[in-house]
Amino acid sequence: MKFYQSSLLKQFNNLLCFITTKQDGNIAFHVNDDEQRVLQNHKTLANRHSYSYKKLIHMKQIHSNEVRVISKEDDFFSIPSCDALVTDEKNIPLMVMVADCSALLFYDDTKKVIGVVHAGRTGAFSNIVRNTLQTFSTQFGSRVEDIFVTIAPSICQKCYEVGEEIFIQAQQLQLEYAILKKGEQYYLDIKTILEKQLLQGGIKKEHIEFSPLCNACNTKEYYSYRKEGQTGRFGGVLMLK
Ligand SMILES: [Zn+2]
Repeated sequence: MKFYQSSLLKQFNNLLCFITTKQDGNIAFHVNDDEQRVLQNHKTLANRHSYSYKKLIHMKQIHSNEVRVISKEDDFFSIPSCDALVTDEKNIPLMVMVADCSALLFYDDTKKVIGVVHAGRTGAFSNIVRNTLQTFSTQFGSRVEDIFVTIAPSICQKCYEVGEEIFIQAQQLQLEYAILKKGEQYYLDIKTILEKQLLQGGIKKEHIEFSPLCNACNTKEYYSYRKEGQTGRFGGVLMLK
């Protein structure tokens, strides 16, 4: 089974870390897929990576900058509405689902804390990265220089055309550096915003890894909402062993 693996996080053998592909099937319940089939995809994934699917926490992602701290009492069937999960509990896989948006996986190797983040345009514009780093520091005493971040395949700038209203919004947020204007078209580069926010948050450059892949350029392996319309979701999973 082929899947994208972070070369940054694979150095830590107390972590389970992987990004699913289309071969793993759709893992989202909200995209009009058959519920039993989605559940079976989760069970198969759990078997393959040796965790209990009932322990996995996924989110009702709402394009916010809300972060939730996960405890032992949470499980697969209690689904928080938020866009980031953080925990220091072992054997609780945290999952983020995407199909164009960025899945960011955070790890503090000193305090042994993990986090997963869903960031599309709204999450990037409202700086969910900053809120996540704040949660690491206030809830777990993390120091930003100890945190590593890997970002799964996500949409590239040439696949992400936006309207003028988004350009104006970006200007208001001083994010116009992330928009390329070509004739009457605007193209948004989410990854450059995320990278800047990570660096501004104090993450070391050598602790940041972006997958070079664009999911929308690679729809054989990854779902893309923009390229495919009604489609599934792939996911990033991180767990402390
Ligand atoms: Zn692309």
